[in-house]
Amino acid sequence: MAQDYYQILGVERGASADEIKKAYRKLAIKYHPDKNPGNKEAEEKFKEVSAAYETLSDPDKKRQYDQFGHDAYTSRGGAGGGAADFRHAQDIFSQFFGGGGGGFSFEDLFGGGGHGRSYNGPVDGNDLRYDLEISFEDAMYGADKKITLPQMVDCPDCSGSGCEPGTGKKTCSTCGGTGQQTISQGFFSVRQPCRTCGGTGQIIEKPCRKCRGRGQVRVEKSFQLHIQPGVDTGSRLRVPGKGEAGQRGGQPGDLYVFITVRPNEIFQRNGNDLMCEVPIPFTAAVLGGVVEVPTITGKAKMRVPAGTQSGTVLRLKGKGVPSLRGGARGDLHIRVVVETPVALSKEQLETLTKFSDSLTDKNQPRQKSYAERARQFMREDQAQS
Ligand SMILES: [Zn+2]
Ligand SMILES: [Zn+2]
Repeated sequence: MAQDYYQILGVERGASADEIKKAYRKLAIKYHPDKNPGNKEAEEKFKEVSAAYETLSDPDKKRQYDQFGHDAYTSRGGAGGGAADFRHAQDIFSQFFGGGGGGFSFEDLFGGGGHGRSYNGPVDGNDLRYDLEISFEDAMYGADKKITLPQMVDCPDCSGSGCEPGTGKKTCSTCGGTGQQTISQGFFSVRQPCRTCGGTGQIIEKPCRKCRGRGQVRVEKSFQLHIQPGVDTGSRLRVPGKGEAGQRGGQPGDLYVFITVRPNEIFQRNGNDLMCEVPIPFTAAVLGGVVEVPTITGKAKMRVPAGTQSGTVLRLKGKGVPSLRGGARGDLHIRVVVETPVALSKEQLETLTKFSDSLTDKNQPRQKSYAERARQFMREDQAQS
């Protein structure tokens, strides 16, 4: 599915809940399998439209969808779906028209015969997002992080049946277990999902006290997430099967962990390269020398050439960030800042004064060329005014 949910429903990105509802109603009726018997294309459309509506009609899901984009949100499962998707689409449809819609049934809408569908099928869990902030060090060296998530799981007391232990389900007396109800209206009789049992054909005798008959309970679940060295802010880690649990045997969704790396005082990051600023002695800048610099793998020695200017960027190859995909490490770029000595003794000052007197243009070529450019500018300025 290359299209996004807004395109599928044919609405604008900023569409209101009402517009989304209207678009879904129109398309769901158009592509409903009862209206298009044996038409695979219509069935696919029906599933797409239902999936789009399910997401865009739920404020939480819609927010996630808007945030992740289509690919991240729907990457589980892929296109084509299968029987579970189709039953799920039917569920959405019957909720829309049966639940809040004022007593429609498929037959009301299409005038066709009932098919005795089951509303009991598996439902896959949704994908979930988890935001994780990690330290700069964790991003450099990798780490194992404990992730705790609230999850809906099958109720331990009733094993997901929703029945109080020791009790069971009985056949729905309204529909006799078919899940369908026939209602007479004058000469016509129409069938629709049974209201008493919600189309499942069965009634829970005594709801489980722990889960109140829902069959699922919310628990905190933890697992270890391995973080590879080299992750960066914006990295998205997919953890298969750690999303929302499926229902009635459906597949669980995936978890997407969105990484934010806290900034570091010493190093700034640019892709797989690191930058840092290192103050060096004025004498090392003049005479050349070796200075010690920090790297993420420990201290390193860096050669400073004689005559190095303040602001010069020197590079230490391979001292940057480890590559997430197993390629070469990035580099470390060191911007040297020449430190002007302060609090000099009388003797030091005398030495420097003597030294200063001995300086010529040849020793300070930048000053000379700058002075020439400045003079040039002033002349042009005068000529204009
Ligand atoms: Zn239970
Ligand atoms: Zn029933």
